[in-house]
Amino acid sequence: MSQEALARQPNRSSGDAPTYRAWFQCIAGCPGTYELNEIIYQCPKCGNLLEVAHDLDLLRQNSPGQWMALFDMRYRGTEWPYGSSVWGKKEMVCPNVDNRNIVSTYEGGSNLFWAERLGREIGLEDLWMKLCGNSHTGSFKDLGMTVLVSMVKQMISEGVPIQAVACASTGDTSASLAAYCAAAGIQAIVFLPRHKVSVPQLIQPLAHGALTLSLDTDFDGCMKLVQEICAKNNIYLANSMNSLRLEGQKTISIELVQQFDWDIPDVVIVPGGNLGNISAIGRGFLLLRNLGIISRLPRLVCAQAERANPLYRSYLTGFRKYKPIKAKKTLASAIQIGNPVSVQKAIKVLKEFDGIVEQATEEELANSAAHADRTGLYNCPHTGVALAVLSKLVKRGVIGPRDRVVVISTAHGLKFADFQLRYHSRRLRGIESRHSNLPVELPARADRIMETIVRRLEKP
Ligand SMILES: *Cc1c(COP(=O)(O)O)cnc(C)c1O
Ligand SMILES: [Zn+2]
Repeated sequence: MSQEALARQPNRSSGDAPTYRAWFQCIAGCPGTYELNEIIYQCPKCGNLLEVAHDLDLLRQNSPGQWMALFDMRYRGTEWPYGSSVWGKKEMVCPNVDNRNIVSTYEGGSNLFWAERLGREIGLEDLWMKLCGNSHTGSFKDLGMTVLVSMVKQMISEGVPIQAVACASTGDTSASLAAYCAAAGIQAIVFLPRHKVSVPQLIQPLAHGALTLSLDTDFDGCMKLVQEICAKNNIYLANSMNSLRLEGQKTISIELVQQFDWDIPDVVIVPGGNLGNISAIGRGFLLLRNLGIISRLPRLVCAQAERANPLYRSYLTGFRKYKPIKAKKTLASAIQIGNPVSVQKAIKVLKEFDGIVEQATEEELANSAAHADRTGLYNCPHTGVALAVLSKLVKRGVIGPRDRVVVISTAHGLKFADFQLRYHSRRLRGIESRHSNLPVELPARADRIMETIVRRLEKP
């Protein structure tokens, strides 16, 4: 098929048989497949999570070169919905949604750049930052949410009686769900742990008209409640145990490879909480390799906060043991999760990638984020966890000075201004703010200003 024909072809009018096929199946390998428009999150036979599987034979009908050319042709264009880097890869993400039901705010296509100065300062020649938080709602959760909400819109259009979509969240999932539901005209319900999300994260669902439940518990508590409520009512569950979202998150790795002209980096580091993303990123690379688009895999690193580190503890046992924990309060609030839903998916992927799990303390994450800010980045605390882990692995020689390393920055730093303000005003308890910088308050007089400038230039 010519590229143009292929590019046009997903614009089928509804009713045509889909050309590409994807379905849910059990991650533990139980027989049975389920349609993506079924309301089902767990294997009815064993209770494990489901994953989305694609008909690889159909995808292989295109050569690697044809896929690359098609994706490049669509990338950041304006032919709706393919300019979105999620829907630009629709055939490999969710071919089952009609274009007229897609709810998109032009996801992906996020900045990937050489962090030259930071790399030099920590001993790397080839460090890259991928700013996945430069997105509609300020976090990388938009990548998956566009897929989930589009499928819900499709199901509603097919007559499935869904009255609302709900999620438990540490702040970013709820912001994203609220925005996409608002765009689609669907009621969103978000379950938030009280006082554990940032001010912008609380305002976002409110602004979008979501029913915002501020609950006297932590994320894991919210998760339990939302599952209970979704199981019994016509409310669709939007948490990442619903693997539709991971299909969208998977485009992080596809887009990354695309941005490197279809070459792969040596190491990819991502902060992990509920662990859907580390598994989605892994699955994206595996899919590309299965289709012959790449020939080797990068090393995957999952970075956890020391105060919410169940996967790290399991890693220390070679993944032979795993036990959920009670997460302690961490500045990296979006990954303050002790009982991650996708832990088994993450372990499976990390084993395939010879993956690494490393942790960062509060002090390390705060100072790593601030150090990187000094080099022109602007980091959320979770990206701080990834950066702190990066420094440790470089010092330990696990990552070599010439390795091409990509840090996945997961949220926009501006969503966490309160963290930065407290850091710079030295109000983070127990943390020495090594890169603190505060406004200098002066009378409006040129001589005093000049004195201050001279002092700073002498002693930066
Ligand atoms: C959700 C989130 C993560 C972690 O992703 P998981 O899939 O839960 O591991 C990291 N950083 C930010 C900012 C997030 O919102
Ligand atoms: Zn099963």
